Amino acid sequence: MSGKQNSAVGEHPSPGPGRRKKSVKPESRLAMVRRARRINRELAEVFPYAHPELDFENPYQLLIATVLSAQTTDLRVNQTTPALFAAYPTPEDLAAAVPEEVEELIRPTGFFRAKTRSIMGLSKAIRDDFGGEVPGTLKELVTLPGVGRKTAFVVLGNAFGVPGITVDTHFMRLVRRWKWTEQDDPGKIEAEIATIFPKSEWTMLSHRVIFHGRRICHARRPACGACPITHLCPSYGEGETDPEKAKKLLKYEMGGRPGQRLKPPPDYPGTPAPAAGTAE
Ligand code: SF4
Repeated sequence: MSGKQNSAVGEHPSPGPGRRKKSVKPESRLAMVRRARRINRELAEVFPYAHPELDFENPYQLLIATVLSAQTTDLRVNQTTPALFAAYPTPEDLAAAVPEEVEELIRPTGFFRAKTRSIMGLSKAIRDDFGGEVPGTLKELVTLPGVGRKTAFVVLGNAFGVPGITVDTHFMRLVRRWKWTEQDDPGKIEAEIATIFPKSEWTMLSHRVIFHGRRICHARRPACGACPITHLCPSYGEGETDPEKAKKLLKYEMGGRPGQRLKPPPDYPGTPAPAAGTAE
């Protein structure tokens, strides 16, 4: 945690801890952009190790894992994919699988029949239309069955190094709390946020925001009292402001608990997630 509460430059005039409320003019676009960029910089200091929280070793694995992550946690996917990828190491293998056997393997991720159709369908398309290699462009990726822009951006950003903004549930919630946008449609949010940050920041910005949402700025009870960017947040006070109580709400490495990846990157300061079947 950076301990940067109430620093001065570019700060939003909203009341952080110990600050008096005063009437203020609406924030200008320029001030909002400066504040947004500062949030990004400060989150980069808080989470220098931010990364995608799905385990993967190649674009095929990331694509499958991302499709499986719909309506479930990355942890559940990470606990499920080792057996799946051991049985079907390539798109050709998965395309030729017996559907019922795939369903059994991915059952823990929920919606396993629909997900089996998706991952087998996209594996067939990769085999038949792209020579067995996951394509590396947005235009091609979204032609794969079950692959929308969100999934495509995750794969492009993290397996191909192409900048992309990932608008998931955490990203949507936080950018609205920070008043970066008032949109609630993921495509419109993506377009608006893209005007605030340079392309080179898009992928890491997405990881930082999602890390912050998963660990500190939760949907139901954000841990405002333990948040390092209160001085930049117009929604401070939406959650628990008592520092001791807020500290108890922190998750994963911030709360001293295991993360979501079984194989996190080497710089991850927390402990790896447990394998399937062991205590979480
Ligand atoms: S935890 Fe509270 S102060 Fe921090 S970003 Fe979320 S709403 Fe703002």
